[in-house]
Amino acid sequence: MLHRIEGIVIRSMDYGESNKIITLFTRDVGKVGVMVRGAKKMNSRHSAIAQLFTHGEFVFFKAGNQLGTLNHADIISSHHRLRADFLLTAYSAYMAEMVDRILTDNEPNPFIYEQLIAAYDGIEDGKDSQIITHLFEMKMLIQAGYAPNFNECASCGADTNHPQLHIQLGGILCVNCTMKYPQALSITEGLLKLLRLLARVDLNRLGKVEVKPETKLLLKQVMRSFLDTHIGIQWRSQHVMDQMEKYGF
Ligand SMILES: [Zn+2]
Repeated sequence: MLHRIEGIVIRSMDYGESNKIITLFTRDVGKVGVMVRGAKKMNSRHSAIAQLFTHGEFVFFKAGNQLGTLNHADIISSHHRLRADFLLTAYSAYMAEMVDRILTDNEPNPFIYEQLIAAYDGIEDGKDSQIITHLFEMKMLIQAGYAPNFNECASCGADTNHPQLHIQLGGILCVNCTMKYPQALSITEGLLKLLRLLARVDLNRLGKVEVKPETKLLLKQVMRSFLDTHIGIQWRSQHVMDQMEKYGF
């Protein structure tokens, strides 16, 4: 059966002498594997299409559960910038890996699809790539069923603005409950506001946000704790990302 589907390349690996197998994340059918013949050859018309982060309309044959075979593709955006800069590549690869490892194959998820496209387009347009990545992490956390609560106390349910976080309980704690949980984490009011924004805002609507470097550092630690605690996947791309940040790429 011939399919014509909009999608984005989230994984690309060599196969044999000249071919590649790509994983497409599509709006309509979720993740799907497709063989791209000749993609490893420099001058092949398929080599650009098979690159990571390429967003396009892909036409491929696929029978049942078998691997698809690419016929041709029209590129919507090659997301060139995402591959030209080490740090941007690391952030983009991490988001692709989250989609690859958290979402189920052949199951559409139009919301996350839209968020990923918006994330890549935003980075391509020069928006803050770290904030975009944390916003995407938040959307994946919510999607996986672990939506943090930043408005009510995670222990007693009272409305609170108390900047005290309990990762395992999945949210903030009120003044009274803070005393019951010595392992709670003190955060700043600025970070609490930012976390609320990330939980609420759609990536398509993310405007310009000014975030202090120390708040960003704390945000990174908090988001990582949430993902480690509730999703518990060792990300292959995280090590690269950490090294890049450390050495100031
Ligand atoms: Zn409470």
